[in-house]
Amino acid sequence: MKILGIETSCDDTASAVIDENGNVLSNVLSSQTQFYKDFGGIVPEIASRKHAELIGYVIQEALNIANTDITNINLVSVTYGPGLVGSLIVGVEAAKAISFAKNIPLIGVNHLEGHIYSLFINNKPLKIDSPPFPMLFLIVSGGHTELVFVKNHLQYKVIGETRDDAAGEALDKFARALGYDYPGGPIIQKLGEKGNPYFYKFPRLSIKSPYEFSFSGLKTAGVYYLQKHQDEVKTHLGDICASYEEALTDILVKRTLKAAKDLNVKAIGVVGGVSANKRLREKFNKQSKIPVYFPEKGFSTDNAAMIAIAGLLHYKNGEQSNLLLDASSTLSLPK
Ligand code: AMP
Ligand code: MG
Repeated sequence: MKILGIETSCDDTASAVIDENGNVLSNVLSSQTQFYKDFGGIVPEIASRKHAELIGYVIQEALNIANTDITNINLVSVTYGPGLVGSLIVGVEAAKAISFAKNIPLIGVNHLEGHIYSLFINNKPLKIDSPPFPMLFLIVSGGHTELVFVKNHLQYKVIGETRDDAAGEALDKFARALGYDYPGGPIIQKLGEKGNPYFYKFPRLSIKSPYEFSFSGLKTAGVYYLQKHQDEVKTHLGDICASYEEALTDILVKRTLKAAKDLNVKAIGVVGGVSANKRLREKFNKQSKIPVYFPEKGFSTDNAAMIAIAGLLHYKNGEQSNLLLDASSTLSLPK
């Protein structure tokens, strides 16, 4: 069995082919980042047009690399939300067209459950047949920061999320204030690698609700600090970046570990673009008493392999979408 995955929820046009055991045969991604350099952020209209231009090529490339063709695909799995609606529509319509023309089942996948399943790609680090459930997942990306309790395969309950900005956004905006383009997370990581994380104490979270997040306060404090201390930025850039990253990762780790303890889970999964962060990984590994799992290299940020695996699990569970499948910008996981 071969599963074709399609992901177009934001600014990456992605397609992948996996087999029925969750092994990746191809994983193709065309990033649009270069088109937004002059705009300071993603332009939804450009994103959907670029997806429409690229989707055919990206799917064909995924099939070529997997050494197969569309007649050998048995299932098509696509992200239908959340995300930019104009971007989602391109992937959803492409998947529906393939499903209809080739008479193969269609599965609509929530992008966030895709991130959860990024831990099962190639059965690494977790195996599909023996997951350590119940688990707590921290989904931490450019658009989302949430804690999800996963009781079993496909059984989710969101226990907390951010009230305002996502953690990735707080990194991207801080990098932007320093004059760097999106994505800011990897730049802040690099600049702060050798810095002193205790150089300056950026604000931690004060909201009482234990599983919720908020990053707008940190973001504002960070940008304000850069404006006020321009001389220090020249002499202590590494220390400032390390300190900012330290505050952000403190918030994430502390709240996740508290929830994991309260819910008595067996393991923690940290997924989404920010899960690639070195300081975050080190801190979790150092402070957690239970195992913490992160995606394999390259599978933290958006990709279509995770969408294909999540689709495969739904299919095995007897579920299917139909041609009425529609993009949903605000789709969420159950609360
Ligand atoms: P996603 O929305 O899942 O595609 O993830 C994109 C987000 O991940 C952006 O906000 C990036 O700045 C962030 N990101 C990517 N790599 C890293 C990293 N190494 N450290 C921190 N943030 C990162
Ligand atoms: Mg994402």
